[in-house]
Order: sequence, then structure tokens, then C-alpha cells
Amino acid sequence: MLPKVIDDLTVLLSKFQGVGEKTALRYVFDMLNWNSEEIENLSQTILRLTTEVKKCVHCNNLSDNDQCIICGDAERECQKICVVENVRDLIAIENTKSYNGKYYVLEKLISIVNGVYPEDLKIDQFVEKCKNENVEEVILALSLSVAGETTALYLMQKLVEKEIKVTRLASGISTGLSIEYADQITLMKAFEGRK
Ligand SMILES: [Zn+2]
Repeated sequence: MLPKVIDDLTVLLSKFQGVGEKTALRYVFDMLNWNSEEIENLSQTILRLTTEVKKCVHCNNLSDNDQCIICGDAERECQKICVVENVRDLIAIENTKSYNGKYYVLEKLISIVNGVYPEDLKIDQFVEKCKNENVEEVILALSLSVAGETTALYLMQKLVEKEIKVTRLASGISTGLSIEYADQITLMKAFEGRK
């Protein structure tokens, strides 16, 4: 009924989480009102995602360069490392403005049922790095899900073995709630009350 390109783009946009076909179609109709320069700009910018997004060699944060802005910031306390599951959690913590150390992004959590083992998270390398860089405190900011707890316990054991101080975000983040969705005040308090 509609030109094929409209159908094609609608299918592609429906891939976004929370975007159904109806909404996707509305976006496409919106775009039909854009001028060709705007359309060109959008498509070029999307393409840049494939070439311009790098992963920080130190912490796995997303970055323009080999080293992310946080790792390259001399004002940050490099003796503190906050461990998060993903970059969205890192951003949530950054938004509280109550933490001035560095981060380490695990990218996944240990989950035996899903076949994700400690080796897959390169935990030994991380612990080794903490030891070599004389890190004073590792703060675990992982969700209270089964996978989050399993990962936190494993990390704690490995870090304690190397005599590195480990703290966890204080309770207040309800069970199963991910860091990303915790509100800023809850997260800020959780940081202050870590133990
Ligand atoms: Zn980094």
C-alpha cells in the first residue's frame, strides 16, 4: 500500500526497544517532512557509529579515542575504581556528581545459567591491574539481581585475596533494580553509605 522504502524503514525503526510499528511509522512520516540535508545528516551520523565509537583500553567505557575522558582526567582519584555492569550504569552514577574516582565496565555479569563464566569477564586481569596500580578501594555498583550478586561475591573474594579494599553500594537500591533506573538521590545516598 505504501512505497517499499517506508515499509523498510518502519521495520528497522521498530527494532528500538519500546518502539512499536505504529510509532515507527509515525517517525517515518515525520522524516518525510524533513529536507534532504537533514535526512543526509541523520544517515551520515548513524553511519559514524560504526567507525567512531571506540572502547577505552583501560576501563571499557565508550570513547572517541583509545582512552576515555574519565581515564584521561588528571583531576580524578585514580586510587578508586567503581565497577559497573555497563556504560548506562556508569552514566547514571556520573549524573549523581557524587563520585570522582575511575570506573571499570564489566560489560556482562557472571551467569552460569546463561553460560557466562568468570573467565568471560576477565576478572583475574582486572584484579591484577588493581594490585599493580595500587588501587585503594574498589566499589562494586552492581545490580542486586542473581547475576549481579554472583559477580559481586566472586569479585569480592578475588580482591580480598589480594588484600584490596572492597565496598558495595549501600542498600536503598531495591532488589533487582538496575543502577540505571535507580533515581539520582537513592544512588547518591547509596554511594555515601557504602560499606
Ligand atoms: Zn576509560
